[in-house]
Amino acid sequence: MVLSTCGSFDVNFVQDLHCVFCDSLYPARVLSTCPRCGITGILDVEYNYAAIARSLTRRTLAERPERSHWRYRELLPIGEGSALPALSVGWTPLTLAPSLARHIGLRMLFLKDDGRNATGSLKDRASAIGVVKAREKRHKIIACASTGNAASSCAGMAASMGLRSVIFLPERAPEPKVTQLLIFGATVLRVRGSYEQAFQLCQQACERWGWYNRNSAINPYLVEGKKTVGLEIGEQLEWQPTDWVAVSVGDGCTIAGVWKAFREMKALGWMARTPRMLGVQAEGAAPITTAFRTGAPLEPIEPHTIADSIAVGVPRNWKKAVLAIQESDGAMVNVSDDEILDAMRYTGRLSGIFAEPAAATAVAGLRRAVAEGTVGRRASAVAVITGNGLKDVRSASAAVGTPFDISPDGAELQNILQAKDLIMAEAS
Ligand SMILES: *Cc1c(COP(=O)(O)O)cnc(C)c1O
Repeated sequence: MVLSTCGSFDVNFVQDLHCVFCDSLYPARVLSTCPRCGITGILDVEYNYAAIARSLTRRTLAERPERSHWRYRELLPIGEGSALPALSVGWTPLTLAPSLARHIGLRMLFLKDDGRNATGSLKDRASAIGVVKAREKRHKIIACASTGNAASSCAGMAASMGLRSVIFLPERAPEPKVTQLLIFGATVLRVRGSYEQAFQLCQQACERWGWYNRNSAINPYLVEGKKTVGLEIGEQLEWQPTDWVAVSVGDGCTIAGVWKAFREMKALGWMARTPRMLGVQAEGAAPITTAFRTGAPLEPIEPHTIADSIAVGVPRNWKKAVLAIQESDGAMVNVSDDEILDAMRYTGRLSGIFAEPAAATAVAGLRRAVAEGTVGRRASAVAVITGNGLKDVRSASAAVGTPFDISPDGAELQNILQAKDLIMAEAS
């Protein structure tokens, strides 16, 4: 097992934990939710930004060799000299997509390809923090309930760190994600029921057997890992953010993390203005959009969408997500499953990036927001591609159909190539 440590990192800049519901402050020892509010009391990690600004500047950052999210270690809640997983996380490409921009009617569009993370999704950013915290607390087992990506990243990071993993999955998790888990040596428990039921079972098992709980919605440290995708977007855009950043929303941790990153970059004086957040949900799983629009507390729903990674009926982190969108002067839109499948197709064809349904959701949302006038045609945007399309090939196949089956003598070749406009029809 190879472990690397951050050479010069010997200070932890975490100041306290702040409850987003009742505003209580706690020392950084408290593990999951606010003791006063219970399970709904989501905590947020606060840092000593004045101290961070003294050691971390745009210039010192530019000189850092790490091509991973550990380049932002001062802004992460990890202890001094903590062991880090050897598996690389973050510093994924930010790619300009001009044809796709034209197609959806935007002046400028970038794709942040987080499907390129070690296990193929943005969740690696959170799981990497999870295994570091588990090790700091001397746990040997880490557990997680997930619709798929959090699980596969948890299992992969655990394998990289020499920890064992126990995973609770809902029944409908896509097969490729389940296979990833088994390859990474996780103990995989497929719960005959919903994500919510898998989540409850995982909570109980962690309490009973004392395992480290990676469930990111209620673990305040994990969402800090998701924040790094926003920090990278800021740095890769050379501190000139786009007008909008579009993120698909399930539990709400990712969009809250991305917004926190921009808030921090502004607080540290690295960035003069912040982008507006566009939160995108699937029509059949949109309780956060409803809470955002009505201003009422979240009403749980029964989720129905092909985008399994955002099929969350009881999002734990809805409050942080709603606050992020409000503070950024952002917006929320819902898209149908057909719009999601369509976005998988045109994103692949016009950019070469293969997005899983929940990732293509961000692109579909941008397209709809432009069509509805929420996002202006002169605007620039980043769409965060949160997971790789190979993780759910069945949905992808539904979007694109099948290849042409031809005989080895090539008899059908000419007709097919003509039909596809790849060659000119021959004069007969
Ligand atoms: C988890 C996930 C999301 C949504 O993140 P939340 O923190 O649950 O809002 C979006 N896309 C993919 C691919 C994911 O795995």
